[in-house]
Amino acid sequence: MKKRPVILVIDDEESMRDSCCQILMKKGLRSETAEDGSVGIEKIKEIKPDLTLIDLKMPGINGMEVLKKAKEIDPSMIAVVITGYATVDSAVEAMKRGAYDFLPKPFTPEELRIIINRGLEKKRLIQEAESLRREKKLIEENFITMVSHQLRSPIVAILQYFEVMLAEMAGEVSEKQKEMLTRASERLEELLNLISDWLDVARLDSGQIVDKFKPLSLKKILKKLIEDMHSLAKQHDVSLELRPSSENDIVQGDEETLEQVFSNLITNAIRYNKPKGRVLVRIKENKDFVVSEVQDTGIGIAKKHLPLIFDQFYRVSRKGDRKMKGTGLGLSIAKKIVDAHGGSILVSSERGKGSIFSVLLPKG
Ligand code: ADP
Repeated sequence: MKKRPVILVIDDEESMRDSCCQILMKKGLRSETAEDGSVGIEKIKEIKPDLTLIDLKMPGINGMEVLKKAKEIDPSMIAVVITGYATVDSAVEAMKRGAYDFLPKPFTPEELRIIINRGLEKKRLIQEAESLRREKKLIEENFITMVSHQLRSPIVAILQYFEVMLAEMAGEVSEKQKEMLTRASERLEELLNLISDWLDVARLDSGQIVDKFKPLSLKKILKKLIEDMHSLAKQHDVSLELRPSSENDIVQGDEETLEQVFSNLITNAIRYNKPKGRVLVRIKENKDFVVSEVQDTGIGIAKKHLPLIFDQFYRVSRKGDRKMKGTGLGLSIAKKIVDAHGGSILVSSERGKGSIFSVLLPKG
């Protein structure tokens, strides 16, 4: 059954409280009263009214202070202030402090009814928006769980079957069949990468990732990453070097996600490079930021694509690019992570000459 809305009347005049209650009762609403500000505040905590009528002029704690406290206790509560004739200014002040409306004294039962109806409708809309927001969050969380468990697990299982078949542990396999199984496995690996990038986007959008900030040394993170990436660089015949020139390399951040940002930038700098190319990683600083630069001598990016490369699923189409596997999500994830750290990511590039990606992170 739907709960009956509760209205609290805070007024030091007994006759005013009584007449308000009578009008509200006739409307089928539940009403409660408080004879001064401090009783009013206690009742707000206790009964969590949907709407509160607050007389601005009361001895002791005045209406304006009650309003301030009430909004701290329950920001979604609708407050209507009751004012005397000469206090329009204070009514305006009360509205600035979060009151929904004001009712000048003396008022008719009809005026009270109209204002209560409007206030309760506003409350209903606030509650509806809140419940939709909760529902959306739940769907997003369920989606993340569904994708990670129900989509990934079968793909991993299929890959394992293929591995067993390719190793001929389930019987002889012809060269043609091996080729097909290998190609199928590669396509499934791509699908797994897409799912994992997709999950990162969903987690970042729901604010789940960046909640473990602590002081981090970028030099340490980049040194380790570069060590791990030497074999990829070798495969592509590209040299990879770290050149920290700044003493200060400490930022406030989340280690795992920042590693992901730089891993993505360095991997791109290697993959979109040319044979005998170079990748140089620098750490600099300016007044407020530690600036990490990943510079490559690769194929570069034409001007018209530059504003779009941080968009989800955007991939630059160039001749021969089809061979280059990717999801087009890496840079958009990197940008989301850097944004969540209060930083920014910039690119400058020239077609055929190379690119510089700069990550600015607030000093820790
Ligand atoms: P992906 O690499 O999976 O396609 P990204 O979001 O990491 O996705 O990159 C988007 C596009 O930007 C890539 O398709 C590529 O064309 C271009 N790009 C990114 N980094 C570089 C780079 N260092 N040099 C040249 N092009 C790059």
